[in-house]
Amino acid sequence: MFHPTYYDVIVIGGGHAGTEAALAAARSGARTLLLSHNIETIGQMSCNPAIGGIGKGHLVKEIDALGGAMARAADRAGIQWRTLNASKGPAVRATRCQADRSLYKAAIRHIVETQPNLELFQQAVDDLLIEGGRVTGVVTQMGLAFHAKTVVLTAGTFLAGKIHIGQAQYAGGRAGDPPASTLAQRLRELPVAADRLKTGTPPRIDTRSIDFSALQEQPGDDPAPVFSYLGSSSEHPRQVSCWITHTSEQTHELIRGSLDRSPLYSGQIEGIGPRYCPSIEDKVVRFAEKSSHQIFIEPEGLDTFEIYPNGISTSLPYDVQLALVRSIKGFEHAHITRPGYAIEYDYFDPRGLQPWLETKTIPGLYFAGQINGTTGYEEAGAQGLIAGLNAALAVQGKAPWYPRRDEAYIGVLIDDLTSNGTIEPYRMFTSRAEYRLHLREDNADLRLTETGHGLGVVPQARFDALRAKREAVEREIQRLGTLWAAPNNALGAAIERQLGIAVSRETNALDLLRRPELDYAKLTTVSELGPAVERADVAAQVEVQTKYTGYLERQRDEIERQRRNEHTAIPASFDYDKVRGLSIEVLLKLKRSLPATIGQAARISGVTPAAISLLLVHIKRRN
Ligand code: FAD
Repeated sequence: MFHPTYYDVIVIGGGHAGTEAALAAARSGARTLLLSHNIETIGQMSCNPAIGGIGKGHLVKEIDALGGAMARAADRAGIQWRTLNASKGPAVRATRCQADRSLYKAAIRHIVETQPNLELFQQAVDDLLIEGGRVTGVVTQMGLAFHAKTVVLTAGTFLAGKIHIGQAQYAGGRAGDPPASTLAQRLRELPVAADRLKTGTPPRIDTRSIDFSALQEQPGDDPAPVFSYLGSSSEHPRQVSCWITHTSEQTHELIRGSLDRSPLYSGQIEGIGPRYCPSIEDKVVRFAEKSSHQIFIEPEGLDTFEIYPNGISTSLPYDVQLALVRSIKGFEHAHITRPGYAIEYDYFDPRGLQPWLETKTIPGLYFAGQINGTTGYEEAGAQGLIAGLNAALAVQGKAPWYPRRDEAYIGVLIDDLTSNGTIEPYRMFTSRAEYRLHLREDNADLRLTETGHGLGVVPQARFDALRAKREAVEREIQRLGTLWAAPNNALGAAIERQLGIAVSRETNALDLLRRPELDYAKLTTVSELGPAVERADVAAQVEVQTKYTGYLERQRDEIERQRRNEHTAIPASFDYDKVRGLSIEVLLKLKRSLPATIGQAARISGVTPAAISLLLVHIKRRN
């Protein structure tokens, strides 16, 4: 008889990792339970209400290409949209939206509540059930036991969370939410290596107390970009502007004079914070030569008066926060609605994870999100999707799956974490990927959707949409390749007349499109070329694939070369001590990381190509 406390997959935590994990597991057919502290906070953005940005936008597109929720929710919640790096090459262009915090949360909750195979339950998880070394379920705060074949933990900043504002400190998972202290204590007894990290957030300000006449307006792009491959800008709510202001010398003076009261500098906070999203006190100390820092003033939503001043994250005492805010142009009479704070929390060394995010020491237990040392909704969502999918695959007796570094930013993220670990909050950048030209935002669906469909995580309708797009792109490339302009034919004459380009030899339309001064829109104004494709995404794909053919082919060759050894498995029982010629440093690093493949081993810092050759010889001899 069906017992409601038995599931295939249990996901702990309804944040960005947890919702994607639960949705992915359920989409792939596993009976899934999502347990979270509070159903009202499912999909809550703990910090800045924005999705995407450089490197992060790529992750959002990949989550979408694999059927995830983040892009669809952002399309319904984005109130200011921009394409960053729009004037640069397609590899580094990135979509970002400022989101209405409530609309985003509502969209995620709707997607979660309408997902078949997925049940929700509001309870804090206090313990894991482990039998014979394997996870078998969880126990909640009120003593309820839920059993499952696999468990995905996505507790975010909540594990032993400690909030700091000046010298004041108290236990919390984030402002307004309780920490997960009992579970954190229990996890510290298990064979998973834990440490502390910290992150922070700025004070929020009432819009009505800001003098906008002193500030620089930053409207969104028109037309607004879209995140989901199945989305449309008609889904976007009303659009608003962001604004820009700057800190002043007076701000910096105030901060310098209060450092002795900062928990960061008094030694009260031990965890390391995010390098690329530092607190304002960190910026003033580290970049002492700068007299001003930029602040983006970002609305928190359409129906609220609160704004998020991006760039002044702080854990200084409240009186200093108020004074520093009021020293900023336009904020002279600002009313703070919520103080800024820092939070310290437990995270686990991600080198203790398999590349499919299962813990190496407790089979059936998966970790995803901030607890693996990352920062950001997008990084969390990406890991959640992979962990949830693999938890479901394991239940179905199928082999694990994770994308390679040359297939997806998700592959780069997971490989960086599981091979090298991290001692500071890790965020994604395009510079972390070797094969940037391949891993573009515009082709995440072409890279991943078919594989996702095969794995059961991408529904048929999305796969059909991909096929239609791929066929349209191929058709158009083929068509352009058959249209020849020559000095003495009608097309050649039209090109010369309408585009001012001399046609001195026979050349087809694809070659013309490769010319730097032409893009698809301009080329297809020549009516002799026949009707252009109507879909903007198809036209963009035709243009990128044609213009960058040479570079893409060269990168493909390089990927092929790397791939030959990338997936050579290193057996779990492999005895590194038996490999003659490895230096002590390399030996220690390999034994600590226990890489699953030669590819992973090669990316551990300090592991040389010579060491890799020795490993390969030894593995081949063993086989
Ligand atoms: P979370 O979003 O934290 O979700 C965790 C979920 O698990 C919550 O729903 C919680 O209730 C639930 N939960 C936890 N423990 C239990 C339990 N025992 N039982 C049941 N449910 C449980 N990111 C940036 O990119 N830039 C920033 O500047 C930035 N600043 C931040 C500042 C602060 C103060 C905070 C708190 C976060 C900040 N972040 C920032 C990080 C961003 O919020 C996280 O990266 C992201 O939310 C992580 O997603 P997650 O799913 O791993 O965890």
